[in-house]
Amino acid sequence: MQNNLFSIEHISKVFSDGTVAINDVSLELQKNQVYVIIGPSGSGKSTLLRTLNLMEKPTSGHIYKDGQDITAKSYPIEKHRERVGMVFQNFNLFPHMTVLENINSAQMHVLNRDYKNATEVSLGLLEQVGLLEKKNHYPNQLSGGQKQRIAIARALSMHPEVMLFDEPTSALDPEMIGEVLSVMKNLVHSGMTMIVVTHEMGFAKAFADEIIVMDQGKVIEQGTPEVIFNQPKEQRTAAFLKSVL
Ligand code: ADP
Ligand code: MG
Repeated sequence: MQNNLFSIEHISKVFSDGTVAINDVSLELQKNQVYVIIGPSGSGKSTLLRTLNLMEKPTSGHIYKDGQDITAKSYPIEKHRERVGMVFQNFNLFPHMTVLENINSAQMHVLNRDYKNATEVSLGLLEQVGLLEKKNHYPNQLSGGQKQRIAIARALSMHPEVMLFDEPTSALDPEMIGEVLSVMKNLVHSGMTMIVVTHEMGFAKAFADEIIVMDQGKVIEQGTPEVIFNQPKEQRTAAFLKSVL
């Protein structure tokens, strides 16, 4: 399929302690789409996301990107991670670097951009997330919402093909959630392919092309927000939505 980004074929992930985090999941993820993954805690959402940038390797099954098996031994993991941006619940900024240095870092060390070019890109991204005036601040001088906007800018600095978000607003005080969602909404409008794990059902309803519901390591159903919110097939989906809405 021409517009396919990831073809996930029967992947499972069993951790060394025997925990089955993903249990035979298959999914087709298309380019320029927004996917929202929902489901109870422990259902395998983070693990699934992490297999897509190869932070975790499936124990069995295959993931294809542009027809190439990214789970194959010979696949260049580092190159892959450059193309797949990831944003975490806890920001993961470098504490000893300024905002500008945080955003410059991967561009200079991974893409070999020089300082001038990297800084030009970084300043453009800082403007995009509304934090140009914070460029010389350190992460501990920023609010949680500002840190997360910087983390998004840093991921975007690599010009990724797809952005993965793992509960990007879960660690934030309520009054800061909106500013992060607003940056994410702008990304949706720019056509970015996004795979978002979140409990923000307002975002899911308004921006997801497709919602993927997980429970106990399995995808139990998937569909448009309209279908998932109004006529879920699975009782477990209805129960989960009731618990978060
Ligand atoms: P979610 O993001 O939906 O909360 P996770 O993908 O984090 O779920 O976890 C799925 C299951 O795998 C849980 O039972 C969790 O405890 C377990 N798990 C996650 N990471 C590890 C690990 N590194 N070692 C062992 N078990 C893990
Ligand atoms: Mg998680």
